[in-house]
Amino acid sequence: MKFKKNIKICVAAGHGKSKNGGFDPGACSGCFREFDIAKETAKYLSQYLRSAGFDTELINYNGDLYLTERVEKINSGDFYFALEIHLNAGGGTGSEVYYPKGSAQGRRAAALISSGIAEAFSIPDRGAKTKDGRNGRDYFAVVRDTKPLTLLVETLFIDSDDVENVSSASGRDLCARAISKAVLAFFSEKAAPFTVKILCDELNVRDGPGTWHKINMTVRNGDVFTVVEKNGNWGRLKSGAGWINLSNNLVEMRETEKEL
Ligand SMILES: [Zn+2]
Repeated sequence: MKFKKNIKICVAAGHGKSKNGGFDPGACSGCFREFDIAKETAKYLSQYLRSAGFDTELINYNGDLYLTERVEKINSGDFYFALEIHLNAGGGTGSEVYYPKGSAQGRRAAALISSGIAEAFSIPDRGAKTKDGRNGRDYFAVVRDTKPLTLLVETLFIDSDDVENVSSASGRDLCARAISKAVLAFFSEKAAPFTVKILCDELNVRDGPGTWHKINMTVRNGDVFTVVEKNGNWGRLKSGAGWINLSNNLVEMRETEKEL
């Protein structure tokens, strides 16, 4: 996987240091402490992202940064994207990921990560979420006060059977792998507009995104078009002629920069 720009990602472990400098374990249940699991998951995640080609920095592994210090670190590090790893509490089950209100890209990335974790452990996918704080602003500071798009990943519940999935190193590794896979999928998605070059002899341009829509016209090998909207594997042409199938045996898509 080659990216147009080297994408710098920050991976943070949630908790570890309290406001007054003491230790904040996060949520605790039985012998499990949130910070202990979150930091190992964050470590594996940073390793996976690095091997996937992202310029990755792991922060707060040693619990040396309080919440506001983590926000500051994320804002000062020239990061393009950030993730903070947590475990949920309150007796539910499943994965959920918080994104900043109004961020379509944040919502998409959060949905991919949540479903990736849910699938890895066969737990419910609670999905992409926002949480309101005071004055209708985002509740979580790490989501609200950071300049790069930052997601708060509630991997699963520490106080339910969910936690058995990450009670060992291999479980935390699996969780990290699922998140990394989702991040890679997110950055691999083409965000419209982008240009495509037709690779096959003839390609139908249809009235809508699907083969059941009527054919408006046909385009030919070597033709280049701008796609302004995506729907599944279909792209709407800027010319107004209709939609084409974007399968990679039919068209070549130009790498585009993802605007977060
Ligand atoms: Zn937490």
